[in-house]
Amino acid sequence: MTDTRFSSLKLPQAQLNNLASIGYAEMTPIQALSLPVALSGHDLIAQAKTGSGKTAAFGIGLLNKLKPRLFAVQGLVLCPTRELATQVAKELRRLARYQENIKIITLCGGTPIGPQIGSLEHGAHVVVGTPGRIKDHLRKRTLTLDKVDTLVLDEADRMLDMGFAEDIGAIIETTPASRQTLLFSATYPKDIEQLSASYQRNPERVTAPDKE
Ligand code: ADP
Ligand code: MG
Repeated sequence: MTDTRFSSLKLPQAQLNNLASIGYAEMTPIQALSLPVALSGHDLIAQAKTGSGKTAAFGIGLLNKLKPRLFAVQGLVLCPTRELATQVAKELRRLARYQENIKIITLCGGTPIGPQIGSLEHGAHVVVGTPGRIKDHLRKRTLTLDKVDTLVLDEADRMLDMGFAEDIGAIIETTPASRQTLLFSATYPKDIEQLSASYQRNPERVTAPDKE
């Protein structure tokens, strides 16, 4: 049986206190399976349904690796839609409360690009966004991803369904090969397997049981 206590993970006491204060009493099944792998630095493919707590399953590991004094994008989370990116960023900000001055920004289409460029100029540690707009920023050179050490593909099956495969590839090519890549998907079709084979190294695979 997997240990569902957050205290079984190698996390700073300040984060354990923060998790308790936001009402996270114990890990959900996908968190208990994913976090030990994510914290060990390995690549990961995780399969779990909506509402199973996937944001913290990658977010706690991603935030734990950040260097607050390095003003560069170190964590990148790609999401299929603006709504999902906004939710993920909100959840990450709660999970990041134990650290001071961590800046998490969203970069999505359907909103003006000017203010996004402004917030990038001030420096961000984590970017959460949709592939199209992130590619726009790379093309304009208003974003660089050469310090990314954690890349998350959230709802990867939906991103592929929406036709983002090429954009995702173009984005990943600008990140360091040494990065950790975490792939989350509700389903595991052939194209996800191909995406993983192209961009992950020796990933561990975990699947949350459908019923708790
Ligand atoms: P998913 O991405 O799998 O759909 P989310 O990460 O959005 O799921 O989480 C769903 C909800 O569950 C959120 O409101 C989140 O705050 C809550 N949640 C996640 N993990 C825990 C936990 N360990 N304990 C309590 N609530 C949690
Ligand atoms: Mg989610």
